[in-house]
Amino acid sequence: MSSGQFSRIWQSFAVRLSLWFAATFIVSAVILFALLYVLLTSFFEQSEREIIQARLKECAAVYESRGLPALNDLVHRTEFDQNEGPYFVRVTGPQRSVLLLVAPQDWIRAAERAVDENESSQNAWLQIPKDDRSEFIVARTLLSDGSILQVGRSIHRSETLLRPFLSSFLLVMAPTFLLGLLGGAIFAHRATAPVREIMRTARTIINTSNLAERVPESQAQSELAELARQFNRVLEKNQALIVGMREALDNVAHDLRTPLTRMRGSAELALQSDLEIMKREALADCIEESDRVLTMLNTLMDITEAEHGMMRLHRERRSVSELLGEVLEVYRLVAEEKKIEITADCDGPCYAEVDPNRIQQALANLLDNAVKYTEEHGRISIVCSSSADLVLVRIKDDGIGIPVAEQPRIWERLYRGDKSRGQRGIGLGLSLVKAVVEAHGGRVTVHSSEGAGSEFTVSLPVGAMVEAMA
Ligand code: ADP
Repeated sequence: MSSGQFSRIWQSFAVRLSLWFAATFIVSAVILFALLYVLLTSFFEQSEREIIQARLKECAAVYESRGLPALNDLVHRTEFDQNEGPYFVRVTGPQRSVLLLVAPQDWIRAAERAVDENESSQNAWLQIPKDDRSEFIVARTLLSDGSILQVGRSIHRSETLLRPFLSSFLLVMAPTFLLGLLGGAIFAHRATAPVREIMRTARTIINTSNLAERVPESQAQSELAELARQFNRVLEKNQALIVGMREALDNVAHDLRTPLTRMRGSAELALQSDLEIMKREALADCIEESDRVLTMLNTLMDITEAEHGMMRLHRERRSVSELLGEVLEVYRLVAEEKKIEITADCDGPCYAEVDPNRIQQALANLLDNAVKYTEEHGRISIVCSSSADLVLVRIKDDGIGIPVAEQPRIWERLYRGDKSRGQRGIGLGLSLVKAVVEAHGGRVTVHSSEGAGSEFTVSLPVGAMVEAMA
């Protein structure tokens, strides 16, 4: 395995997770075992001390009642240490002369010096350090004649009892470690499956540019399953945005072609013509077409800014009825030409915190459409009303109406209805209305039926709402 491969495996999240899992598993097992070992050791030690204490009491009682020979008899009796292993028993007279000493041969040398220390110390217990394999503890008591009685015993027995426990632990630990590693690997592999799916999807999108690729979703409630779901939502949004941008770009390219071709034609005509009047007319056409292109580009920029919350709104408390009245003055003239009757019913001044220019632009677009898409002798009615927190403007016409299938699309940039092709327009009016109204924190809706007319309703918050400012 190359060092690059090794470092990739080592850096893998799943591998690290399984190693962590195995390490935690092992450390917990070792801690548990150590605790158990310490508990058992101290339990054995305690029971050893109890046995020694009992022996010490027994020996002291025999010595006090029947003297040294009886004690000598007792410790040499086979039952004395039959079940519990050899004892160390020593009686030291008041002049430090050893009156009795019974112990296995190999203990005597190691024990004597240490036991002397026990004699002079105040401590009732003495633990004699390990000498090869014999470690023992000695208890002492002062007898009524001033002699000192010491009884000791090896604690080697508790070690002997615990040794199988230790070796079986080590024996169990090896498969436990492997089990922990295997369990960790399975656990990590399963847990990181959604991450691998996300990586695979991202790689496929990068390599194939297929924006429709998605991560398989599960019903699980885990964080990673939720991450996969949210990742899909982000992909969906991105796809919608990119598709929208592509369409908009296609539409812009398509819509720019006509005015630019016309401009080119006019410029060619101006170049070929010797007549001053023709040249002037061609130049005027060029200006008109370039204005159209500029309007389209400016409107597109305004919509983009408003949709991304970057449109600068110069808000002031203004009467929406008054703003509407000013726009109406302009469109009355156009409406009169088509003999369309406009009625306006305003319920007071209807104050709101708005950017007057932008709101007039939006209302003008709605009125322009109403006049444009209403036949001669039609009717347009405008109602403006206000409540505690909303100002409502309704613009209703009895014009051509909008087919139900087209209604969701009329807000899209550069979208034009089938029946509106004969009319002037660039398909950006309603997109701008929606973007401006929503930038104010308001809403615009439509109710329309084909052939029976349309009603557009704009609702604006009276105050500048927080989300409108964001
Ligand atoms: P346009 O420049 O085509 O008017 P808009 O964005 O203003 O673009 O409107 C989009 C489409 O919505 C129009 O092409 C038209 O089909 C439809 N529309 C908008 N307002 C009305 C209306 N008042 N009556 C009927 N159709 C309408």
